[in-house]
Amino acid sequence: MTAAVQNSMAADRLDPVQVKRDFPLLRDAPLARGLHYLDNAATTHKPQAVIDAISDCYAQAYGPIHRGLYPLAEAATARYEQSRQTLAEFIGAESPDRLVFTRSATEAINMVAGGWALPRLQPGDRIWVSRMEHHANYLPWQRICQQRGAELGIIELDEDGRLDIAGTPELFGSRTRLIAVCHVSNVLGMENPIQPLCAEARANAIPVLVDAAQSVAHLTLDVAALGCDFLTFSAHKMYGPTGIGLLYAREQYLAEMQPLLLGGGMVDEVGEGNAPSRWSDGPARFEAGSPNLPGAAGFAAAVGYLDGLDRERVHRHVEALTRVAAMSLGALPGLRLLSPPESSAILSFTMEGVHPHDLAQIAGERGVAIRAGHHCAQPLLRHLGIVATARASFGVYNDQDDVNALVAALDAAGRVFPLEPS
Ligand code: PMP
Repeated sequence: MTAAVQNSMAADRLDPVQVKRDFPLLRDAPLARGLHYLDNAATTHKPQAVIDAISDCYAQAYGPIHRGLYPLAEAATARYEQSRQTLAEFIGAESPDRLVFTRSATEAINMVAGGWALPRLQPGDRIWVSRMEHHANYLPWQRICQQRGAELGIIELDEDGRLDIAGTPELFGSRTRLIAVCHVSNVLGMENPIQPLCAEARANAIPVLVDAAQSVAHLTLDVAALGCDFLTFSAHKMYGPTGIGLLYAREQYLAEMQPLLLGGGMVDEVGEGNAPSRWSDGPARFEAGSPNLPGAAGFAAAVGYLDGLDRERVHRHVEALTRVAAMSLGALPGLRLLSPPESSAILSFTMEGVHPHDLAQIAGERGVAIRAGHHCAQPLLRHLGIVATARASFGVYNDQDDVNALVAALDAAGRVFPLEPS
């Protein structure tokens, strides 16, 4: 192989060692010494570019958004709206006006449940979620169904652990008002067939909400290609700041949605006494109160960072690391992988004779940060017949070293809790 070919192959691959240098905490923080951070599905670390964008806002262009008539306030507003534009391009939205900044994915889903679905829901109607939803994409729908005498339908999993859409004939029925599913499961890591699901739902005039919290960091999101009606995610799982998320909604649905939070910045005309008030048009209607400018700037910087790494390369890197880890974990005695083979970025597992919390604690003592518990997905764990799993999740700064440390830690845990008395 010539040096030029080798170079071009290397250029095609992400270099996690170099990537890690972009993350001050992973590079320099005393608590990160010897750390193998494999809890990226919970939250990711922040590159310098994101930290700089936030601090630059405060240092250079901070002011009230949509409220000031002087140059500093106008500059701050321009940054906020530029961030919306960046996010719109990131997800292929037809216009930035379809994007609402929220506090999180959780808030965004609650907004759609309370502001769009609740006012239209009638007794006997159905909202569908899947068996593998995070509580954030389950509880808001459960509550409005309870309030309205509607039914919360559950798309079950087939024998291979995938959404059993064919086995759910009522999914696209006339009483269905909305379908809410995750793009990627936060427990199992597999990608759901969003495109065909949305196509069939659209043919039946049923809106689909896609929870992209676990796909946004490593899959390319394109709302037009997916064909979804609502899409949500949080910045903190894609190397952006905590405290800001996004709701995308197609024009018709955003226009129909009622705001849940009322206050400054979302109203055109306030009625006197009991007289009705008239809300603003567009995303402002859903962004009552003072907008989170540093959050939005950091969010946009995270997009810039991911684009700079090249999202295709990010995907390939995370995918390859997951494959390697799955193979190594699968070879450990007593270890049961719950994630299907094509899972990406997330691997859930149990080990015979060892509680997942013990696994996570022993791993933690060896510098390997993994998560244990029900992962806010109790309906799925009930179905799997277990109370907890251990979960390793991968990001752009992880490498083979992290996988080796994980395998060694789990191997050590297996020795602390041997299946056979020695
Ligand atoms: N959906 C999924 C699939 C998730 O994994 C999470 C976070 N664990 C959420 C929604 C909620 O995200 P946030 O806590 O940022 O609102």
